This record gives sequence, C-alpha cells and structure tokens, in this order.
Amino acid sequence: MHELAITQSVVDMVAERTAGRQVNLVRLDVGALSGVVPEAMQFCYELIIGGTSLEGSTLVIEQTSGAAHCRSCGQDFALDSLILLCSCGSADVELIAGRELRVLSVEMEVESCA
Ligand SMILES: [Zn+2]
Repeated sequence: MHELAITQSVVDMVAERTAGRQVNLVRLDVGALSGVVPEAMQFCYELIIGGTSLEGSTLVIEQTSGAAHCRSCGQDFALDSLILLCSCGSADVELIAGRELRVLSVEMEVESCA
C-alpha cells in the first residue's frame, strides 16, 4: 500500500513546516491519475497522525481530474486513465493535469506571535 509512504511524507512535511504547532486541517490536491486512492490515504492519515502535532486534525482531499493536450491536432481533452491516446489517433499526447499531489492549505491553532 503505497498510500502509507506517501501520507507519511505529507504528514512529516506539514509537521516540519509548521514547526510543531497544533494543526487542525490539511487540504490536499490529489490528481485522479496520481495512483493514490483517497480513501486509503484518509485511513493512513488517521493512523499516522497519532502522537504528532497533527493529531486530531482533519484531512480534506480534493481530486483534480485528468487532462491532456494532443500535440498532433492541438486539442485538450479529459483523461480518466494513463493511456495517453487522442481521439485523432495520435499518441503524441502531453499530460497537463491529474498527477499532482500537493498541499493546498494547512489550518493551525491561532496563537499570538508578539
Ligand atoms: Zn489529437
């Protein structure tokens, strides 16, 4: 289950960037073609955050659908698998969306920074 390793790295990265402050919510953008199953990631997240500064926080996963651009005919089209083939018959297709895995935002406990 590669979601475990991926989720672990996201949790580690967020904990590091937020310098140990209590995190309430993490919002992620997961591409539909990234190979990551949101439900599995959600499950792993719950397991991993125990004992970290993210404990008790919510993981919100937003899925970006796949999109591609055909270099032969110039059209952009939706993609629901990693089979890069345009309806014009060309395989000279560039993936333009759907493989991203990035943190969109993190919400933390508010504390005065005087
Ligand atoms: Zn085409």
